[in-house]
Amino acid sequence: VHEELRQKERLAIIGQMSAAIGHEIRNPMASLKGFIQLQREQYPNTNDYYSIMIQEIDRIDSIIDDLMYIGKPRVIQFNKGDIKEIINYTISIAKQQDEENRIVFETKIEDAIPEIDCVEKRLKQVLINLIKNAIEAMPEGGRITISAGVLDRTKVWLTIEDEGDGIKEENIANISLPFFTTKKNGTGLGLMVSEQIIKDHNGSIKFESTEKKGTKVIVELPIVQINKKINH
Ligand code: ADP
Ligand code: MG
Repeated sequence: VHEELRQKERLAIIGQMSAAIGHEIRNPMASLKGFIQLQREQYPNTNDYYSIMIQEIDRIDSIIDDLMYIGKPRVIQFNKGDIKEIINYTISIAKQQDEENRIVFETKIEDAIPEIDCVEKRLKQVLINLIKNAIEAMPEGGRITISAGVLDRTKVWLTIEDEGDGIKEENIANISLPFFTTKKNGTGLGLMVSEQIIKDHNGSIKFESTEKKGTKVIVELPIVQINKKINH
């Protein structure tokens, strides 16, 4: 319990710092991105460097998104969101980043999934993180299957499956810890933030993984949020 408290305090401090720094980095990054876009328009067909620069800025942006969600007090305002639209949007983003078309995306989405109370931007952030992990687990490429449906009267479900390396048994318990990563350039923030976001939606997230076979992430979310506004 003591250790847990210390961890919480540590995260709160990291969260406050990250929020402040993230905010400061955002503005110059946005202006940098704007100027690169201008250059690209002015000198089209030179090479792909401008597009790569813009992609890299977007990558920094999504890391800042993760950092800024940690440990800071937040008020959540839920709105109606469409799961199918959220999935399709995220896949289009992921496809842009998979330039060599190594990944095949497949969706199996039930018809008539009701809209759910959510913070759309945050659910997109979760999906981007999960899809990114799936892509990174398949360096040689492969298939990612994203499915969604209605679980019962109160919940919807969503799964992301890959055919990647899988998670080592001894790592399963650690993957959502802050800064836990097995990657050379990983931040170890993606799952921790994703779990937090799902928790803030009163939902659940589970991992099923077989080494060298692949990983399935299972998310369940309530359709209706009872307390539409949560103050932490
Ligand atoms: P990062 O991606 O920066 O390493 P994450 O929090 O997103 O941080 O993931 C933590 C760790 O969980 C990863 O380094 C990896 O070892 C493991 N992991 C997560 N998703 C998958 C997956 N789909 N397949 C294999 N390993 C995964
Ligand atoms: Mg990740």
